[in-house]
Amino acid sequence: MAGTKVTVVICQAQGRNPVKRQMEEDLLTALITEPGVDVSLVPHLYDMPSDHTGTLFLKSVPGNLVVLGWLYERATRWTLDRAGVRGQEGTSLIVSERDEDIDEEDRHEPRGIGTVDVPDRKLYCLDLRVRSDAADYVNEIKRIVDENSVQTVDLMSFINGSPKRAQLQRYLHPERQLEARRALDGGSTALADREALPEDTRRRWYPVIDYTRCTNCMECIDFCLFGVYGVDALDRILVEEQDSCKKGCPACSRVCPENAIIFPQHKTPAIAGADGDVGGIKIDLSKLFGGDDGTSALDMAVKERDQELVLDGRAAVGMSVGVGSRSHDEFDDLMDDLDALEF
Ligand code: SF4
Ligand code: SF4
Repeated sequence: MAGTKVTVVICQAQGRNPVKRQMEEDLLTALITEPGVDVSLVPHLYDMPSDHTGTLFLKSVPGNLVVLGWLYERATRWTLDRAGVRGQEGTSLIVSERDEDIDEEDRHEPRGIGTVDVPDRKLYCLDLRVRSDAADYVNEIKRIVDENSVQTVDLMSFINGSPKRAQLQRYLHPERQLEARRALDGGSTALADREALPEDTRRRWYPVIDYTRCTNCMECIDFCLFGVYGVDALDRILVEEQDSCKKGCPACSRVCPENAIIFPQHKTPAIAGADGDVGGIKIDLSKLFGGDDGTSALDMAVKERDQELVLDGRAAVGMSVGVGSRSHDEFDDLMDDLDALEF
């Protein structure tokens, strides 16, 4: 049945953190009965492959969309973009502290190549780590519904109408499907079994590109020696072989001149997609992308890449390959210039 509803999708946290699971359950329970809202739950956004039911569902939403996840808003937005889920950026009143710290005039003016095929609908991304009370998110979603509801189809068919308790539990506890599978098999469930499950959501690690920042300079494709990057039919950079990326390594994010490469699960906020500025130079980039001990971002990146090469049984290359047109000294000079600017 058609209606004027906003679709809300809650993306689950990785792991079994009971506090996060409770937040997801509270949100789902509150939003199911909320007029003007179609709510669904999918596994962790970053881990879902392109053919996962949850990804396909997100792609099928035609109208305004609110996506809540355990990632920085920017990381969620560009992970969605990678999956082909796009929209005009909706402004949420719930933003991370880091975002709030940035004055409007200091915000980054987009100078990247931008994304393509953006439909005329709003896409709101909310970080579930910002508030601890589900009611804050419910109120914000009500505000969004009031502000901007459009015609959509009834999408609850994805989980067969209002979810029954068993359905809710299945989505809240996907690991139990694995236990059921083990019982059926009558034996242990190895990793291969987990990978063979049709709804594979094993943890992943790959770069996500923010195209409002990316200038298509190709520094990343030159730097990465593991075949992760490629170009599309329009010669735009893209992450082509995401699972070839080395788990835990964020090296190319440190060499991207525009800080356009996000690793949503990295512990450093700037690398994980916290909304720092480049054009406004609000933040000391050399400290954010380099080491705590003052190691430059480029030195860190080269070291990390060499470690991965050696682990692969290949020879370390140091600064001799793929550090682009910018020499080591030039990079450090740029960082010194940024540091010297006063705000
Ligand atoms: S290095 Fe950064 S700006 Fe350059 S193509 Fe790669 S992602 Fe885009
Ligand atoms: S983190 Fe390393 S392996 Fe992964 S894309 Fe960047 S340079 Fe390549």
